[in-house]
Amino acid sequence: MSWFSSVEQGPPIEVFALTKQYTEDNFPQKVNLGAGAYRTDEGKPWVLPVVRAAEKALANDETLNKEYLPVLGLDSFSSLSTNMLLGDDSPAIVEKRAFGVQTLSGSGALRVGAEFLAKKLGKTIFYCSTPNYENHKLVFLSAGFQEAKEYRYWDQEKRGLDIEGFLEDISNAPEGSIIILHACAHNPTGCDPTQEHWEQIAQVIKHKKLFPFFDSAYQGFASGDLDKDAWAVRFFVSQGLELFCAQSYSKNFCLYNERTGNLSVVMNNPSEIAAVKSQITLTIRGMYSNPPSHGARIVSYVLSNKELFDQWKGNIKTMSSRIIEMRKRLREELEQFGTPGTWNHITDQIGMFSYTGLNEAQSEHMVKKHHIYMLRSGRICMCGIILSNVEYVARAINETLTS
Ligand code: PLP
Repeated sequence: MSWFSSVEQGPPIEVFALTKQYTEDNFPQKVNLGAGAYRTDEGKPWVLPVVRAAEKALANDETLNKEYLPVLGLDSFSSLSTNMLLGDDSPAIVEKRAFGVQTLSGSGALRVGAEFLAKKLGKTIFYCSTPNYENHKLVFLSAGFQEAKEYRYWDQEKRGLDIEGFLEDISNAPEGSIIILHACAHNPTGCDPTQEHWEQIAQVIKHKKLFPFFDSAYQGFASGDLDKDAWAVRFFVSQGLELFCAQSYSKNFCLYNERTGNLSVVMNNPSEIAAVKSQITLTIRGMYSNPPSHGARIVSYVLSNKELFDQWKGNIKTMSSRIIEMRKRLREELEQFGTPGTWNHITDQIGMFSYTGLNEAQSEHMVKKHHIYMLRSGRICMCGIILSNVEYVARAINETLTS
């Protein structure tokens, strides 16, 4: 007798399956362009120097202990995070109508926010972009949403934003729908709306009574500047919109496995905050009870120390500059090979990812023939490209497109 005989094999999660395949591959020139994780010039994972410094200081602090954190997490961490997102002078902060909740990284913030919206506000429909970050649908549907819809985002022809399609689709969304928006460095396309586009998007959202749920997984990574990368969220707040924003420290602090994130909540009526907080508390209590402390203490330590904060901004610059440099090099190599097509999108796109324009068959060819691991959608993580493999990657793309 088995309790589990009815369980069907689930589909693999592409990005983790690729990493496993890559790890098991013995080919010397293999390249992993799948997972969104930073790599140094030598192709190694990076523990940021500020993280090392904070960890040393925390390890020597004997006042710290292993008691439970509150359900909503470490207060200093969540308020510093919300301030970093909205800006210290944000009207929402000054008027005390914004707060943060520590979560299990960005995914956890999406899940907590989605579960609150589905179970406490009875929301059923959400919209994400086409193409979208592959986990948005799974998270929102698992949280209790009933219908996943998409708005047009990427124009394959012009390899850029389809703003007309985007605006038309959200204009047709039923009132009360949740619209998931990438705060910056859209995953997977690396293509963001301009400020003018954001103004148009905010106007439709306001007019059609939709609820914006931002996903900010790359603050600092798009432009190298924390404030610029929060522009869209801050603009929405300036328009009097209430919103949620899921923040992740996986990428900008390289704290991937510490699961460090924050859900920022911006409301218009401060007197409603206590009730909302109490319901989010119950949501989390029923999910995982309370969050871990290590990552949150590191971030809190760095964000509250001016010197370390400046050093961290330097670390982000190091990462974003290396990626920008690799974009230039990859484009140059492709153009030198005379690879068919135009390659300006490689340098036009921002953040960790590039949407190469390679189709599914071509992307699979890259994996099978060249041992270059990339998603079937043609998305590559620019972090996996380093000086010693950029020519190999360009040569492989060229061979794929000319064979
Ligand atoms: N949202 C987007 C758009 C992402 O790209 C990612 C990670 O790749 C996440 C959320 C969640 O990341 P984490 O749960 O590690 O914070």
